[in-house]
Order: sequence, then structure tokens, then C-alpha cells
Amino acid sequence: MAGSDQAYQAAFKQMGIIRAENLEDFLDLALMFAFQPVPEGPNVVVITNSGGPGILAADASEKLGLRLTTITPDTVEKLHNILPPYASFYNPIDLLGDASAERYQKALEIILEDPEAQAIMVILSATATIDPKETTERLGRVSSKAKRKTLAACFLGPETLKIAQEPLSKARIPGFIYPERVISSLAKMWRYRLWLMSPEDEPLNLKVDRQRATEIISVARQQDRRQLYEHEVKESLSAYGFRFPRSLLARTSDEALLSAQAIGYPVVLKIISPAFVHKTDVGGVRVNTGNDQELLEAFFELTSRAKKIAPSALFGVLVQEMIRNGREIILGFHRDPQFGPMIMFGLGGIYVEVLKDVSFRIAPFGRRQAQEMIRETKGYPLLKGVRGQPEADLEALTAAILALAQLTLDFPELAEGDINPLMLRPHGQGALAVDARLTLGGKR
Ligand code: ADP
Ligand code: MG
Repeated sequence: MAGSDQAYQAAFKQMGIIRAENLEDFLDLALMFAFQPVPEGPNVVVITNSGGPGILAADASEKLGLRLTTITPDTVEKLHNILPPYASFYNPIDLLGDASAERYQKALEIILEDPEAQAIMVILSATATIDPKETTERLGRVSSKAKRKTLAACFLGPETLKIAQEPLSKARIPGFIYPERVISSLAKMWRYRLWLMSPEDEPLNLKVDRQRATEIISVARQQDRRQLYEHEVKESLSAYGFRFPRSLLARTSDEALLSAQAIGYPVVLKIISPAFVHKTDVGGVRVNTGNDQELLEAFFELTSRAKKIAPSALFGVLVQEMIRNGREIILGFHRDPQFGPMIMFGLGGIYVEVLKDVSFRIAPFGRRQAQEMIRETKGYPLLKGVRGQPEADLEALTAAILALAQLTLDFPELAEGDINPLMLRPHGQGALAVDARLTLGGKR
């Protein structure tokens, strides 16, 4: 489920690189960055001479995480002194259709002094009374007082912008035609500021038994196997702190009975064979087996099916504790040829298959990135607990993500793998790896 576009996206996110969606977006951003400082906050003030474009800017701001801030009472009072009483004194500030170049200049001067304004967008619609060139020249004259505020202009219509272009460039005010594009660029700049302000991630300080995992993985390598056996996967992941449900491998029905009694019903039965990577696909999993009789039935059904498909490769049937209070999570990794180990997180089961609601990071990363990875999925509220459900053990989930990242860094020979599902239990109860696989890369 991870194409290389996702690798770029993850890398950009981690490194604070802004992604331009297309060439237009790229040039917009280039213009903004060339002329203006990165906004210090999400607060935008819009000055306009027509209502519609102001509302478009307001709607776009809302959608993209900026805020049309409330200007201070002091600023409102100052505006009253220069504007007709029927103007709009609240953000967007509407100078009205008969606004002159001078009115624009005075309004900008006032807004530049408002401490709430972090970005200012001046919108101009060509009207009979306005001279775009003169207006721009006047705006340019006061723009030097902008200091750390980010300034941009939106001149509706290419003709209008063309007239204003020269004085705009001289004053280093980026000029645009569409209000939404100004807001979109500002929003991306603001996200970049957030990245600049974010603290250093906490380094990984995991206690792992690397030696133990090395021993297991080297055996598989010596045997030229790509797929690690079920017990090898379990042992190497255990060395990295993963926990598993109780389980026993049974070769005969008698062993299966004894195993189930030792573990306690209900149990899950699973065909274990290197021939089947996805057990459910071949009818190789039976959950919720409640008693001896059901167990024997399931055992014979599973083994006869497996013998038909791959007679020589059956290792046995895994009898596993049934986990009932867990939410299914998928954790996985693969190696991107450019960026290296890509760690994936998502809500498992049908969610991952249907909604593809997964997030990615490139290892190494720390605790904060792991937490963000969890929070940025749409399914996150389900983990926080909805409708009386308890919150899931997010601490255990964070630890699991970090442990998997560490494993991929310690063993470059591991090409890909997943834990699907990891059963995430309520807060304080940890997580159990119910099914996992690890695959070694080809010959190096
Ligand atoms: P595979 O992915 O190879 O088909 P799994 O071991 O993941 O096999 O089992 C398939 C599904 O059965 C899991 O996604 C989970 O919903 C359920 N399941 C498997 N083992 C357990 C268990 N121990 N407790 C609860 N549910 C389980
Ligand atoms: Mg599975």
C-alpha cells in the first residue's frame, strides 16, 4: 500500500519541505517566499473593496487552517476615523466600492499597527473610482512598515494585475489574481513556520535485545530463506519488546486439545505453513473456538484443507489465546529505494482494506513523529474511544511503532514485514501481536 509518492510525502513532512501541488502552486510559493517573511502566526486580515472576494478568502482560510482574526477595538476606532460609517470594520474590512487609493493606503497603515494581524491580504476589484496603479504605489509606500507581517495583494482580473505589477514588484509585494491562491500559499507558509517552531524529536532510547534478533535472522539467511518462520518472527519481535498472545503449536489433535486446555477457551486455530502467507485466504484461521468438540472439528477441517493445497509443507496448527478486547491495528514496513525504511501505521481489518487510512514515516524518527503518525489518521478518534469505549493504549502503540522502526534500522536485510493485526487493548493493558511476518531481501 505504499507507493513512492507516499515516501516523498513522508519525507517532506518530516523535513519541513513544502509540497507544491503543481507548477502554478510552485510559482505562487516562489513569489511569496521571495518577497515576504514566513508568517509568525495563522492570523490573517483582509482589506477589500468588494464583499465577495473577501468571503472567498475567509472561506479558504477556514478550510486551510488560517484564521481571519478579530482586530483590536483600537484598530476599529482608527478605521472609523477614515472610513464611511457604512463600511465594514470587521475582518474582512470592506472599504466599499467607492474606495480610493488614499483610503487603501490609510487602511493598510492602520492594520499594519494592529498586533493581531500576522498576515495581511489586500484585495482590489477594478471599479470606476479606483486607480490600481496609484493604489499600488501608495500601498508600496507604507508597506515598508510591515516589518514581520506577511503582505500579499490580490488584484482581481489579469488586466488589473498587469497595471499594478511594476509598483508591486518594486515594493516586494507578491501580486495574485485569485484570493484562494493567496490563502493557499499563506497556509503552506504557516505550516512551514509550525515546522520551524516544533521542538526536536525525542531520540529513540529503546531497550532491545539486538543480539538475540541477530542470531535468529542469521539462521534464516544461512538457509537462504526469504520468509522467517512463525516462531522466528515471534522471537525476533519479542527481542524488540513486542508481546504475543499465548500460543502453542500442535501437530496432532491430541496436542491441540492439550494446548487449548492449557491456554483456556476460547482459542483461535491457525494453519502454520510456509506455503501460506495469508492464512485466511485459504480458510486457515478459525477464531473463537469454544470447547473441545469445536476445537477437534476445526483442527480436522483446517489440516485436511491445508494438506490438499500443500501436503508436504504443513508445520502444524497454532492454538492461540483469543484476544477479545483489542482494536485491530496494522503496522508495517518496507524499504523505499530512495528514502529507506518506511514505517506504516493504520487501523487494521476492514478499515485498512477499504479506507486505506494509513500514515507513513521514514525511520529514524522519534516519539513525537510516532504520535503524529497516529493522530493524523482519520480513524484516530476511534482509538481515543467513542460511545463509551475506553481509550486504547496509545502509549503501547507509540512504543510499538518506535520498536518496529528500530528493527528496520538495525537489520537492513529485512526487506519488509507487518504486524497485522496488532491487538491494541485499553489504556494500561498494552498491545499483542496476533499475526506477524518478516521477509528478508534478495541476495545482496
Ligand atoms: P492472516 O492474516 O494470515 O489471514 P491472522 O492471524 O491475521 O491471519 O488472522 C486473521 C484475522 O483473525 C485477524 O485479522 C483477526 O481479526 C482474527 N484473529 C486472529 N487471531 C486472533 C486472536 N488471537 N484473537 C482475536 N482475533 C484473532
Ligand atoms: Mg493477519
